[in-house]
Amino acid sequence: MPQTILVTGAAGFLGSHLCDALLAEGHTVIGADNLSTGNRANIAHLATEPRFSFLQKDIVQPFDPGKVDYVFNMASPASPIDYARLGVETLLVGSAGTINTLDIARKYSAGYLHASTSECYGDPEVHPQVETYWGHVNPIGPRSVYDEAKRFSEAAVMAYHRYYGVDTHLVRIFNTYGPRLQANDGRVISNFMIQALRGEPLTIYGDGSQTRSFCYVSDLIDGIVRLSRSTTDEHLPVNIGNPDEWTILECAQEVLKVTGASVEIVLKPLPQDDPTRRKPDITRARTLLGWEPKVKLHDGLHKSLAYFKSSIG
Ligand code: UDP
Repeated sequence: MPQTILVTGAAGFLGSHLCDALLAEGHTVIGADNLSTGNRANIAHLATEPRFSFLQKDIVQPFDPGKVDYVFNMASPASPIDYARLGVETLLVGSAGTINTLDIARKYSAGYLHASTSECYGDPEVHPQVETYWGHVNPIGPRSVYDEAKRFSEAAVMAYHRYYGVDTHLVRIFNTYGPRLQANDGRVISNFMIQALRGEPLTIYGDGSQTRSFCYVSDLIDGIVRLSRSTTDEHLPVNIGNPDEWTILECAQEVLKVTGASVEIVLKPLPQDDPTRRKPDITRARTLLGWEPKVKLHDGLHKSLAYFKSSIG
């Protein structure tokens, strides 16, 4: 049955793809975003969509979107460069913002899904990362504004479920890429793709032996939507990500293959507390949701090529 759904962070990379997926299913979507890191261009194509409305709102201030059936809380700066620049804002959106959106779900007896993160595992000592691992996070380092806000949000979501009976879900999102990934937010895929397309050297931080596991955006959105519909009583976090693990050096080589660029690789200093490895254990998602990613890194980079080309003008 068509629902009315609030998506916060609607002008962001994942938020905007989620709006598209929900609209395609016939739902009515209210997209909220304060545009601090979101981009209006990501939702420009929805301007004439009668089932979509946009609220330019900072969810740190309480607000009432009217009756909704479901809330997806996707709002937060998400790249290391953005949350370093917007440190206090990141703490606020991941605390007051989460509480405010939980209050909306509680008021309207709506379902609620919060976008959490693999950063909850910090620099993990358990590999691959299972949801039962509590993590290894520096609570006062440069990434703490993001990591601790997301960990607080998880506690808030669990509390609204336990104390108020809100029907909540928590997804822990691993590195995701694809069209609409902000071109200038310093993340590894956007940096490498743009550097390669401009014929500039690829910048590897550290020696490139650290690992990440990259999920293509359509796989991720499919996982999130399935989780939101999950009829099982799973309120604990569920990892959604692609378990194919790459060193950053291998990722650079893959970008060179896909773009056909022949540029140098240069080494730059490794940022403080940069996790040495990251790979989701997706057993829970497989079992609960029958979900697993389909798009291989090589194919996903291909699918993203036109977007990155257009973003450099
Ligand atoms: N990285 C890199 N070169 C870049 C950007 C990032 O080597 O131009 C590395 C970064 O140090 C990290 C990994 O790539 O080890 C992923 O970084 P990203 O900022 O995409 O996200 P993170 O997974 O750290 O949140």
